[in-house]
Amino acid sequence: NLSDKLQRSFKTLRGQGTITDDNIAEALREIRLALLESDVNLAVVTDLVEHIRTRALGTQVTTALSPSEQIVKIVHDELVNLLGKDTARFQKSSQPPSVILMAGLQGSGKTTTSGKLAQWLKKAGHRPMLVSVDVYRPAAREQLAIVARTISAQLYEGKLTDGEANTDSVLRLAKEAKREAASFGCDILIVDTAGRNQIDAALMDEMAALKKQLNPSEILFVADAMTGQDAVNSAKAFNDLLTITGAILTKMDGDARGGAALSIRHVTGAPIKFLGTGEKPDAFEPFHPDRIVSRIMGMGDIATLLERAEEKLDRGKAEQFAKKALSGDGFSLDDFRDQLRQIKKMGSMQSILKMLPSVGPFAGMAQAAENVDEKQFTRVESIINSMTDKERKDHEIINGNRRKRIARGSGTTVQDVNNLLRQYAQMRKMFKTIGGGGGIKAQQRMMS
Ligand code: GDP
Ligand code: MG
Repeated sequence: NLSDKLQRSFKTLRGQGTITDDNIAEALREIRLALLESDVNLAVVTDLVEHIRTRALGTQVTTALSPSEQIVKIVHDELVNLLGKDTARFQKSSQPPSVILMAGLQGSGKTTTSGKLAQWLKKAGHRPMLVSVDVYRPAAREQLAIVARTISAQLYEGKLTDGEANTDSVLRLAKEAKREAASFGCDILIVDTAGRNQIDAALMDEMAALKKQLNPSEILFVADAMTGQDAVNSAKAFNDLLTITGAILTKMDGDARGGAALSIRHVTGAPIKFLGTGEKPDAFEPFHPDRIVSRIMGMGDIATLLERAEEKLDRGKAEQFAKKALSGDGFSLDDFRDQLRQIKKMGSMQSILKMLPSVGPFAGMAQAAENVDEKQFTRVESIINSMTDKERKDHEIINGNRRKRIARGSGTTVQDVNNLLRQYAQMRKMFKTIGGGGGIKAQQRMMS
């Protein structure tokens, strides 16, 4: 992926004292290739590389950052610039309801995303109504009805008689829904539309007619991030016809690392507003350029992780733990168990590990996530539960006999207990190393 490739290209710069024409040319060539291979559009790549070259050459060589770190920072800043800031905002129409028209190819995630958006808007205090005008596939309308029920959102179902699969009935449904939303006091109407496997004239005509009739305040292009360059091409086609006001990238929980985000933004000029990160209604987040850029570059999505942690964790406890873990004393098994419980509150371990950076002290952890056995957590917790207070505070007193007793008490084996103690010791050591000025600080320096 892009991150690995960029990491590799930055390695060529390591150990060089100054940024010169020569050493930057090599790095830029690598960056260019990496971006291209990651589905970033050629025009975007050319622009970007030029910006980076200009900025890099104008940069004073400082003692605080190595040339490679400086270039990492420049690439990071340029990508953030390109993506724009604070994009998850909506235009409103002067008279409610404001209409959000969802556009995109079939399977891109329009219906799923319509539901996610409705839920997100509800949480933000709005009263959204959903309507599906996919009259060509009854199952598609039923799918939205199910989504609406799941999240308890208003839905305009409307009536269709057989043989009414045409643009006229699409427009009629849309019109009725808008009236219904107004009379229900809904301030936003989300219109889920039909998609095709590829852009065809009939679909485009219908979208244009819908736009004309509904006068939407937002036209959001929904793109499957996994489809890379195809998503960019269809974004362009939709934008040429409809002038989209924003894009939502779905399936960011897969392998896609964000190349499509850069290209869509550059090609359409419209901001990416949200990311879809799973099939469930709450797997949806406002788009933060600095985060996705970090993810692209392999720094991991620490900001998202921290935000999620803040939401779900007892903040004081988390800070205490971090302080302890990074200090010379290290953390006790008590703290460890506490932390496990907190982590469980945050969701699955897999989703957490995936957000860690793929470089530095966390290298390999994202891959390790694939192998995490969630049951292991419960096992670890019961082992710690079976220890005495004294043992939890001072793991060094846990001798062979104590291990046997703990294994019996927790329904595990002595080997399980040994494993836990060994891992615990390793973690303590790792945190202390980081606390003592290892990887994390170097990374922070790089990104600040
Ligand atoms: P539509 O044809 O554009 O309406 O697409 P759908 O909403 O029916 O979605 C197509 C498929 O993609 C469904 O199986 C969804 O569950 C799935 N999907 C949509 N968004 C996401 C996402 O963010 N992550 C993942 N993993 N799957 C998604
Ligand atoms: Mg659909």
